[in-house]
Amino acid sequence: MSVIRQLPRLVVDQIAAGEVVERPASVVKELVENSLDAGATHIDVILEEGGIRRIEVRDDGVGITRDDLQLALSSHATSKLSDASDLQAIASLGFRGEALASIASVSRLEMISWPRDAERAAKISVDFGTQSAVQDCAGARGTRITVCDLFSELPARRKFLKRPSTEASHAIAWVERLALVHSGVGFSVQHDGKMVFKVNASDDLSARCAAVYGTKLNADMISIDLPSEHIQLTARIGPPESARRDARKVHMFLNGRWVRDPRLLRAVREGVKEFVPHGYYPTLFMALNMAPESIDVNVHPQKTEVRFRDERMVFGRIVNGLRQSLAGANWSTRSAGGVGGAYTASSSAQFGGGSMSEGGGAYSQHPLATADARPIGAIDDTIGTQNFLSVRNTFLFREIEGGVEIIDQHALHERVNLEELRREIREGEVVMQPLLVPALVDLSREEVQSLVDNKAVFRKLGVDVSEFGTTTLAINGVPARLKKLRPESLVEDLLEILSQSRAPSPEQIQEEMLYSMSCRSAVMAGDYVGEDALRSLLKRGGDLPQDRTCAHGRPVRVFLSYVDLEKAFYRR
Ligand code: ADP
Ligand code: MG
Repeated sequence: MSVIRQLPRLVVDQIAAGEVVERPASVVKELVENSLDAGATHIDVILEEGGIRRIEVRDDGVGITRDDLQLALSSHATSKLSDASDLQAIASLGFRGEALASIASVSRLEMISWPRDAERAAKISVDFGTQSAVQDCAGARGTRITVCDLFSELPARRKFLKRPSTEASHAIAWVERLALVHSGVGFSVQHDGKMVFKVNASDDLSARCAAVYGTKLNADMISIDLPSEHIQLTARIGPPESARRDARKVHMFLNGRWVRDPRLLRAVREGVKEFVPHGYYPTLFMALNMAPESIDVNVHPQKTEVRFRDERMVFGRIVNGLRQSLAGANWSTRSAGGVGGAYTASSSAQFGGGSMSEGGGAYSQHPLATADARPIGAIDDTIGTQNFLSVRNTFLFREIEGGVEIIDQHALHERVNLEELRREIREGEVVMQPLLVPALVDLSREEVQSLVDNKAVFRKLGVDVSEFGTTTLAINGVPARLKKLRPESLVEDLLEILSQSRAPSPEQIQEEMLYSMSCRSAVMAGDYVGEDALRSLLKRGGDLPQDRTCAHGRPVRVFLSYVDLEKAFYRR
């Protein structure tokens, strides 16, 4: 007697639904992606009770012919692929032909479609896998799909659904993501009768970012547009203080598809690490476009992970693209103050401690770094004459326009070093200080070799090394500007930089060296620094192109406004 049976169709579909239909948001995603694939220019989503009770998606796309209605609902039926070779270059969002069948096996689904050439609309409905006959009906051009009572007959799955408000916010988030990247398409979402999201077909990327990230944050985002033959990168990135510990404000897209690829995320963090501290993520919209045959999206049922034919090229492009664009970004405190309407953190409400007000000019995010959005004023005018207080040989307090500024002496020195070295590089070579007696460091033969191989890059940054016997490296000179730099710690860092990735490019080595040297030669927290030296440091820090973060993305300055002080003492 055989014990193995072929499973009934409905069970197969319900198993498949386990992979793609997790909650109302997944239904919304699949339906909206279908509308986009159908060339829609308007997509309306209507939710009831977070979509648990009802989800409706209407579009004005090409529609489905009467003859195809049944087929569209069966599994492995798609109009987007015809043979295996099509899998090599997927240009549409869908291709698995599984979503509608899966959804229809776990809900009550009704589909009405009126394609362009047809005389009238037709409809079909499915009740937890049981299909009705196709009927004529009234309708609008395009397609309308309604999904009711998701999982209501599958208690085991239904009990994993959260409160309607939670389910609604996940569903809305999917529409927001797709709306960000699909310019030319208008979207709306209604939840329990209320309009909760809307962008018009004519809205550009900035308007879409404003709708998703908030107008204030959007106004302070920097646009990046890097066309190229192989990979086109378009991005908008928020200022350092909008960074957060989770990646929820990172939206990455590959050929119009929202992706959450851990390796892409790593490239992003690498690219922004000078502005965003370790462990934090930037506010970021990033869209990559490349030839469909250079990627494989058929890796994951939800299609949020991808493989690249040329991973190194893609990552290099992201890292360098972000770095170069951000290096030119004007995010200095003075400029933000100068324009008057300094950035407030209210749109990135994740930061800021409970009772404190939000905002904080161009200052770094900190529970205390808050304020009404008051312009910061000309800080450097008063430097030199102004009093300040050094606390624990670490923090410098001083009064500036609108409140009190607290500066981390190490972070500021590190940033000053970095910007000054960069300026020297731009203007030619970094001035080198030859050592009277070369510093000798014992290393392995391989280590000596790899350092000597990169001699030219080091020399550009004012570091002169040479081989001194097979296992000894001689350091003959270091940058004149960096007085505190110890040659041994420099060698340590150089070796680490060289071992980080297999074959770092000269630009990569240069960037990493700049970070390391800026940090190694900066005063430390806790170091006693004389008053004159501190004054001169503050002066050097008064006019930098970028002064909000140290070379590792940590805050340089924190601002406490008078309002914050008044609140703290219940004077407000
Ligand atoms: P896939 O999107 O992977 O092809 P689906 O199950 O999501 O699979 O959809 C099956 C087919 O139904 C699609 O290939 C498409 O031909 C058709 N279809 C689904 N939704 C729409 C829509 N909104 N407008 C036009 N055609 C649609
Ligand atoms: Mg689909």
